[in-house]
Amino acid sequence: MECPVCACLSATFPCPSCRKVLEGYAFSSLWRERCPVCGCPTLSLAYPCRFCETHYQAYGPLQGLLRELMVRYKVGGQRDLSRLFASLLIPLLPPGAGTCLVPVPASGEGLRRRGFDQGLLLARNMHMPVARLLTRTSRGVQKQQDRRGRAQVAFQVEDRNLPSLRRLVVVDDVITTGSTMRAAIASLEQHYAVPVTGLAVCLA
Ligand SMILES: [Zn+2]
Ligand SMILES: [Zn+2]
Repeated sequence: MECPVCACLSATFPCPSCRKVLEGYAFSSLWRERCPVCGCPTLSLAYPCRFCETHYQAYGPLQGLLRELMVRYKVGGQRDLSRLFASLLIPLLPPGAGTCLVPVPASGEGLRRRGFDQGLLLARNMHMPVARLLTRTSRGVQKQQDRRGRAQVAFQVEDRNLPSLRRLVVVDDVITTGSTMRAAIASLEQHYAVPVTGLAVCLA
């Protein structure tokens, strides 16, 4: 098959050398310390662990090859990269049965421009149950802005009976300010009595 990164022919997806380069971008490679509470990679034990504070984490920073691949995925429409990104996220999922993935829905504008929902496609490639429980209110980004002038995102949550549900994991491609992920996690926590965490490919 063709490596989605370098387009060489390879028996593995991606090819071994691209896999190695991508592993170098993982926070687990960049950050040697591990949080004593949750086990997540952390820059320094002198600071509070990001995951313990926010309940979300990402595979790696939006830099270098990861950034280039994200542009190829979101702007260039290279959809097979969703399989690659999913393979990076699967090892970061919490262990145990009963996990359900909830993709952050694409904005209406992004969906029109791109022709596919990048978060949904990513979640569907992670070989786990997927439930589309979130809807952006007022058809996309709300008009009101926060104090820093950024658009606020709000979600409507679908109440669904999910038998043997143990935890929800919100899946997104990129976490920029974190406000979208925080809103998604908080909305789901209000409706479902299970732990909710967030997972993204890149942290900007
Ligand atoms: Zn390659
Ligand atoms: Zn932690």
